[in-house]
Amino acid sequence: MSKKQFKTESRKLLDLMINSIYTNREIFLRELISNASDALDKRHFLSLTDSAYTSSNPLTIQLAVDRDNRTLTIEDNGIGMNGEEMEKNLGTIAHSGSEEFRQQLENSREVDIIGQFGVGFYSAFMVADSITVESRKVNDEAFRWHSDGQSGYTIEPGDKASVGTRITLKLREDTDEVKYSEYLDKYTIEQLVKKYSDYIRYPIQMMVEQSVPKEGSEGEYETIETLKTLNTMVPLWRRNKKDIKDEDYNSFYKSQFYDYEDPLEVIHYTLEGNVSYKALLYIPSRIPYNYYSRDYEAGLQLYSKGVFIMDRCKELLPDYFHFVKGLVDSDDVSLNISREMLQKDSQLQELGKSVTKRVKSALVNMLVKDREKYEKFYKNFGYSLKYGCYQDYGLHKEDLQDLLLFYSSKDDKYVTLKEYRERMKEDQKEIYYATGSSLAQIRKLPQIEKLLDRDYEVLFMTDDIDEFVIMMMREYDGKNFQNAQQADTEVESDEEKSAREELVKNNESLLKDMGEALKDKVKEVRISSRLKSHPVCLVADTNGISLDMEKYLSKMPDGSANMKATKILEVNPDHDIFKVLQKVHEKDPGKVNEYADLLYQQALLIEGFSIEDPVEFSNRICQLMKEASENN
Ligand code: ADP
Repeated sequence: MSKKQFKTESRKLLDLMINSIYTNREIFLRELISNASDALDKRHFLSLTDSAYTSSNPLTIQLAVDRDNRTLTIEDNGIGMNGEEMEKNLGTIAHSGSEEFRQQLENSREVDIIGQFGVGFYSAFMVADSITVESRKVNDEAFRWHSDGQSGYTIEPGDKASVGTRITLKLREDTDEVKYSEYLDKYTIEQLVKKYSDYIRYPIQMMVEQSVPKEGSEGEYETIETLKTLNTMVPLWRRNKKDIKDEDYNSFYKSQFYDYEDPLEVIHYTLEGNVSYKALLYIPSRIPYNYYSRDYEAGLQLYSKGVFIMDRCKELLPDYFHFVKGLVDSDDVSLNISREMLQKDSQLQELGKSVTKRVKSALVNMLVKDREKYEKFYKNFGYSLKYGCYQDYGLHKEDLQDLLLFYSSKDDKYVTLKEYRERMKEDQKEIYYATGSSLAQIRKLPQIEKLLDRDYEVLFMTDDIDEFVIMMMREYDGKNFQNAQQADTEVESDEEKSAREELVKNNESLLKDMGEALKDKVKEVRISSRLKSHPVCLVADTNGISLDMEKYLSKMPDGSANMKATKILEVNPDHDIFKVLQKVHEKDPGKVNEYADLLYQQALLIEGFSIEDPVEFSNRICQLMKEASENN
């Protein structure tokens, strides 16, 4: 028998457990019971399709204490483990969040975080000197794993006769601070089961002494040993809402759905009717660490009449609600429905529709009643909702548009489209938006100056996905979205328009020459109606992609890098630079080419584009400075 060492990461964790900086030691029992319950689930699930897994005895979890030997035993007749699995499951920490967990543990000593990271088994070392795991799988040999947590572990052939797993903890000797023997006290064990594991679907049983009337003799009692089921087995979601405390919801969430923070929102309801079911759904208060990656496994747990059917049933919620965790317990879904059948099952589709509707109404409700909470939610999962608007060719946009929030020019605060729409100015024809890399950058965009001056609200969009969403939505409540950085934004009154036309006429040759000088770069140079204090800006032609879309596409690895916006350079006729241009042009029409180019490059910079030849650009600025000083 050879001794193996724990993997480094496991080692570090074990040290933490053994040195027990974590004071809430009692949760070890919950962790082991929860593992046993999972093992029973697995066996039950396999038995649905393979009778070899059917157990002749009911599936249970048995607890036993032996005061003399200071042992506590947790035994299940679940799936079991073979030697290889013991090596894999108990010798290493498989869960990729383990490092994150360790940091959490070091930072927050009291928060209940063990077990959310797939390290539950190790928590037993908080109370035990050594642990023995004996296990057997169906049609397999028995194996025995043993470890003192410190010097490594051994795996050898075992002699367990029945299928399942028996875990024996040799409890530590009592110290002045900690009475480990309390876990040898049956009453304590019973209380712990009630506290943490009451809803477990399988009976958790223990032999207890009970005092019963002695047969044949009046008034006398005797103590007998009976097997007692310690848990009520009523799952949390099947209990009456008014009997459930926030604490119960939260601790269930954390232990079932691998989070160490309380959920942001709990949605618990029962529906009777066309489809009858109970649902217990949670919206996390933080983004699961792999949420926006491919590894994220979405989906709700599916139960039928309280019996677990499957984990991560994706069919119950659309992609855009995949942040929701929880379970659905239906009276109608067949017990042995397979994954392949899910998509076709009409009951399940009905169920999915109903669950989706409920999640939506919970969000609408939160938005109305608790804006702060909703914004917290939106910061984490707003991207999902936006993606939902865009996905499937905008199929869900009507459903989701009122859940969207955007920053706006009004106080840099989140607004809904409805709020924007309601306070639109009477003469305002469109919903204005501007895109950029940050709110500060957008706020300074030359193109929105006049709009803000007129007190028109402008939506500020900083997510790459925003423009795609807007393109898909096109309008909201009868008003079109208008990109403020696009050619056809109308901000002028009739008088202003005729004044501008007059200016265009008087400066025809200047504009033409500038346009000629930039003919490879812009479609046109024109007099602007949207600028106030800036000399020039770029706008994108209406027929084509926007300026930000060009930037976005240039980052794509495929051929879309060549897609360019058709640009128009607008000059501000009220700016001093315009007068300079007029003067230079009058004196030497050729000289204006150079100025046009410099202004164009500046406009590019303001937009966040890079310029073709920065060295040349800087040289020309220096040249201008020199000329200016010579003229003074
Ligand atoms: P987690 O349960 O979060 O995956 P644990 O460290 O508690 O992490 O357990 C590690 C693994 O060991 C489990 O995923 C499971 O595969 C296996 N295991 C633990 N307890 C049992 C058991 N009673 N029966 C079968 N397998 C078990």
